[in-house]
Amino acid sequence: MSQKDTLENIVISTFHEMVRKYLDERENTRELWKAKGKEVVFVHELCECAYKRKLRLKFPEVENASFFSPRFLVGYFIELAVKSLLNDPNEHPVFKELVANGKHILVYGHIDALIDGTPVEIKYQTDLQGVPHEHHILQLKLYSWLMNSTLGLLTYVSPEGIKIFEIKNDLNDENVIELIKQESSPMWREWECNYCVFERFCEKSLTYSGDSV
Ligand code: SF4
Repeated sequence: MSQKDTLENIVISTFHEMVRKYLDERENTRELWKAKGKEVVFVHELCECAYKRKLRLKFPEVENASFFSPRFLVGYFIELAVKSLLNDPNEHPVFKELVANGKHILVYGHIDALIDGTPVEIKYQTDLQGVPHEHHILQLKLYSWLMNSTLGLLTYVSPEGIKIFEIKNDLNDENVIELIKQESSPMWREWECNYCVFERFCEKSLTYSGDSV
């Protein structure tokens, strides 16, 4: 095998590793707990349109394909680099059990890194905005709630700069139960459909209705 082939294989296997980590493993976790009578809701699912969960099951290939993107690869490499600098190479799966809609639900999160029990979320952005995005704030608050932490650190890494925001956690069990019950589709009306990989298959999309900004 040539050196070029070796390098190409590393890149291709990294794409497959992302699919394994972010899609396959999560679905395996869901199935594992389903067999024990518990429903798993992942933190990222509480920060996005609820209808995506249904379309994900209908069109798994669509989301799979979206992972084969150089942008995702760069984000993944940055996450690995920051974790390595923090000397924290491990995964941090964490969950809490709640009862919502009469069902036992495990709210399950994978935290990028921990500093003395404080969750750290690492985001790669091509553009650096002045304030954190609302869905990233919610995601980090949920991680802090899972860790019983009053604070989380939201870290943006971008070619334009690096910003770290301290996000105070004000969520409690009742707030999270409400969030589970909410099931908004889309959750973020101003922009979510415009960036959604399922948009072409979705009858709820606001992209063509004139509702989206
Ligand atoms: S297109 Fe909009 S409503 Fe449809 S799944 Fe995506 S985010 Fe949800």
